[in-house]
Amino acid sequence: MKVLVLGAGIIGTSTAWHLLERGHEVTVVDRQASAAQEASFANAAQISVSYCEPWANRQAPVKLLKWMFRKDAPLLFRPQPDWQQWRWGLQFLAQCNDSAFERNVQQLVALGAYSHASLDEMVRATGIEYHRLQCGIAHYYSDPASFEEAAKGAELMRKFGVQRKVLSRDELLAVEPAFRSFADRIAGGTYTPTDETGDAQVFTEQLAARCAARGAQFLFGHDVERLDLAGGAVAAVAVRDRASGTVRRLKADQVVVACGSYSAPLLRTVGVDLPIYPGKGYSATFKLKRPELAPRVSAIDDAVKVAMSRLGDELRVAGTIELAGFDLSLDTPVARARCRMLAERIEQVLPGVCDTRMAEDGGNPRFWAGLRPATPTNIPYIGRTRVGRLWVNAGHGTLGWTHGAGSGKAMAQLISGQRPGIAFDFYGFEPQREQLATGLA
Ligand SMILES: Cc1cc2nc3c(=O)[nH]c(=O)nc-3n(C[C@H](O)[C@H](O)[C@H](O)COP(=O)(O)OP(=O)(O)OC[C@H]3O[C@@H](n4cnc5c(N)ncnc54)[C@H](O)[C@@H]3O)c2cc1C
Repeated sequence: MKVLVLGAGIIGTSTAWHLLERGHEVTVVDRQASAAQEASFANAAQISVSYCEPWANRQAPVKLLKWMFRKDAPLLFRPQPDWQQWRWGLQFLAQCNDSAFERNVQQLVALGAYSHASLDEMVRATGIEYHRLQCGIAHYYSDPASFEEAAKGAELMRKFGVQRKVLSRDELLAVEPAFRSFADRIAGGTYTPTDETGDAQVFTEQLAARCAARGAQFLFGHDVERLDLAGGAVAAVAVRDRASGTVRRLKADQVVVACGSYSAPLLRTVGVDLPIYPGKGYSATFKLKRPELAPRVSAIDDAVKVAMSRLGDELRVAGTIELAGFDLSLDTPVARARCRMLAERIEQVLPGVCDTRMAEDGGNPRFWAGLRPATPTNIPYIGRTRVGRLWVNAGHGTLGWTHGAGSGKAMAQLISGQRPGIAFDFYGFEPQREQLATGLA
C-alpha cells in the first residue's frame, strides 16, 4: 500500500520505519528542513517507562491554582480567549481523580513497555548511536512529605508491574554520587534501573536517513495545507512547497496524521475533534566543565519538576509545562524566568559541573522551547479516524520519546490489519483490555 505520513517528528518517523518493515511504500511530509525539528528536538531525553504518571491527579487542581501566579511554576495555566484551551482544561479536571489516574497509568505503562521493546529492536536493527545511556532514572525529593507520598506512588506502580525502588538519601547517592554536593537538601528518592536516556533528535534524524535509504520519500520544506475528502474518505492531501510556493495534491491508500500539537487543528478541518493542546516546555543544554563529576543516571528534581540527562559531553535540563497556546517564544518574561530557573537550579544541584553562564556573561547555553502534544489523560490517540483512509498517531504529551518506537510500530500494525498484543485502547477500535483478558486478542 502507498502510505502518506504527515509529520517527521519521532512519531511520524517511527511510523514510517515500521511501515517500511511491513513492505509499504512510504512518503513523509514535513514543513521543516529535516526530521525532529519541533517537539522532538531538545526534550529531556528520558525513556521513562516507569515514571509515566499523568499530570492529572487528585492533587493537581489545588496545585494549579497555587501555581497560577508564579512565572516559574512547574505547571502553568495561562487563560487565553480560546475555547479549545478551556475545553481541554475542563477535560483535564475531569481526569483529576484516583480511578481515572489508575486507568491512565495502566494504559501508559502498557504502551511504555511495548515501546521499550520496540526501541531495542530498532536500535539492534539499525545500529543508530544517539548518546544512549542505560543507567536508569532517579527521582529525588527535597521535601520529606513529598518523599513519603513517593513511596505510596511506588507501591501503586508495582501493581502495574513497574519496579520502582524507594531509596534513602545514602542509597540514592550510592546509585548516583554526582548529587553529593546537594545531599543535605535531599530527603530521599526513588530509582527505576530499567529506564534509560538518549538524544531523540539524533535518533529520529538518523532513523529518517535509514528510512530514506530503504526507499521512503521525504518531502521536507512542505506545509500540509489541506485534507481533501470525497465520499467520506481522504482523496488527496494538498501540500505547499515552502521554497517555490507550488501546491501539489498527493494521493495515497492511507494517510497518517503525526503532526504533534498541530494534528488537532488539521483534523478538525475534516470533522475529527481530538483534545490535543500544546503544552509548552523548556530545555537548556549546557556544556560539561567537569564531565567526571556529571551524573550518568538521569534524574528528576521533584521540587522544581525538572529532568536532567547526560548527552555525551553535555547536560540537558528540561521541564515545566505552560498551557498558553502555540507560542514558542523564548523572550517573554515568563520564558526568561523559566530558562533562568533551569540554569540556577542546575548550579545549585551540581555546582561547578556545567557551564551555566548566560550569554551576557560569556556562556553559551542552548535554550529551547517545544510544544508537547498534550491530552487531558496524557494518553495518545493511535488508530483510525471516522474519515475513511485517515489515521492518527498524535497526542503523546510528556512521553512522546518514550512511546515513539512503540506508537510507530502499533500504527503500522493497525494499518496492516494486525492488532498489537498490548492492553491499550487504540483509537477507533473497540477497547482491547477486555479482549486480552478473555484471550481474544
Ligand atoms: C521540554 C520537553 C521535555 C520533554 N521531555 C521528554 C522526555 O524526557 N521523554 C519523553 O518521552 N518525552 C519528552 N517530551 C515529549 C516529546 O518530546 C514529545 O511528546 C514528542 O516529541 C512528540 O513527537 P511528535 O512526533 O508527535 O511531534 P513533533 O516532534 O512536533 O513532530 C510533528 C512534526 O509535524 C510537522 N508538522 C506539523 N504541522 C505541519 C504541517 N501543517 N505541515 C507540515 N508539517 C507539519 C512538524 O514540523 C514536526 O516535525 C518532552 C517535551 C518537551 C517540550
